[in-house]
Amino acid sequence: MSEGELVFPLKCSVQNYAWGKLGSESEVASLQKAADPSFQIDDDTPYAELWMGTHVNCPSKVKTPKGSNLSLKDWITQHPEQLGEAVRKKFGDDLPFLFKVLSVNKSLSVQAHPNKVQAEKLHKTFPDIYKDDNHKPELAIALTPFKALCGFRPIQEVADFLSKIEELRAVVGGPKACKLISASKTPDMPLQREAMKDCFTALMKRDPESVQSELKLLINRLQNLDNAGTDTSVFESEVLYKLYKEFPGDVGCFTVYFLNVITLQPGESMFLEANLPHAYLSGDTMECMACSDNVVRAGLTPKFRDVHTLCEMLDYTGKPASKTKFTGKSVTEDKVTITTFSPAIRDFAVKKFQTSPGCTSLKLAALPSPSITIVIQGNGIANNATLESSLPVNRGEIFFTSVNQEVTIDVSSESMLLFQAYAAV
Ligand SMILES: [Zn+2]
Repeated sequence: MSEGELVFPLKCSVQNYAWGKLGSESEVASLQKAADPSFQIDDDTPYAELWMGTHVNCPSKVKTPKGSNLSLKDWITQHPEQLGEAVRKKFGDDLPFLFKVLSVNKSLSVQAHPNKVQAEKLHKTFPDIYKDDNHKPELAIALTPFKALCGFRPIQEVADFLSKIEELRAVVGGPKACKLISASKTPDMPLQREAMKDCFTALMKRDPESVQSELKLLINRLQNLDNAGTDTSVFESEVLYKLYKEFPGDVGCFTVYFLNVITLQPGESMFLEANLPHAYLSGDTMECMACSDNVVRAGLTPKFRDVHTLCEMLDYTGKPASKTKFTGKSVTEDKVTITTFSPAIRDFAVKKFQTSPGCTSLKLAALPSPSITIVIQGNGIANNATLESSLPVNRGEIFFTSVNQEVTIDVSSESMLLFQAYAAV
């Protein structure tokens, strides 16, 4: 690779967090193996995340035939003009986003992310816990059916659970449960949000012994119903059993009665804006986020829990599960469907490219931002006006494109699926 190259492949690394899918079950491991045949998959090792970007915890490297050790971060420091004026002006001389593939086996913590103002305050007050002052909006686009808890349920659903699950009523406390049930019968939104906050906060602050014993009672009761042939799906038993198995006795198990359970089908997405509670449960997904580590956790985790901050910051507006999905805008031309997922932030947006059979060529238009693209399916050859030789782009391949560069791909397989992340400047 010559000095000043504008389109080039990246070597990215995986994170083996314990919650990841094991061995070749993991899309993360499978993509890594496809990109690098020398990569050995160990069937007992979890492969949780593939990181594409400049983050210091798992930096991507510039891939050269000689295998240089230059990180993308260092490359950008040497060639900041490749970011473009708009990105440099708004975000400084670094990529403002981090792009990932996630393969989730075991549930992740119940969490939310602060907005910019809250992040600055948290970082100032607790610099050891909140290590940067940035917000962390996240966008997930499913690769396989992807299950998650996301946002508060409509208050009527929570009221219904409180009415029929005495163990839930016991941990929340009778008076607060009654207040929520009566608020659910009014159109008074501030009253509803207040009742939701009171109940959720009471649950999260409940002493662990009571939580454990009530959970045990509930699990036993549901299992008895199952054994008697009664349908327990109205109690969200499937998700509850999963959480209980993974985090026995954890208060997070009860959050299934406050938060929507959603399943994204491949290509469907959700946008986790500030203060929206969520927890990933299972499946494979693309994920793009602003460069930050600011996570406020309250359950389903061995990590530090900041219950007070979380309960104070959440958006308690109840919404039906269907409203939690984020819809991209699709355009189909010459057998290529491009879906753009662009939430109301500038840090990032993601384009999905899906070709139909018979498609021979695919164009990634020039953008006012640099981008990172990953090939999830199919094979092709990438070309760019400045490239000395064309670049093979097969499954698992990841490449960086500088600002204002168009890339065309000669498609050599029946179909191709690519995702491209960039800053929405
Ligand atoms: Zn999150």
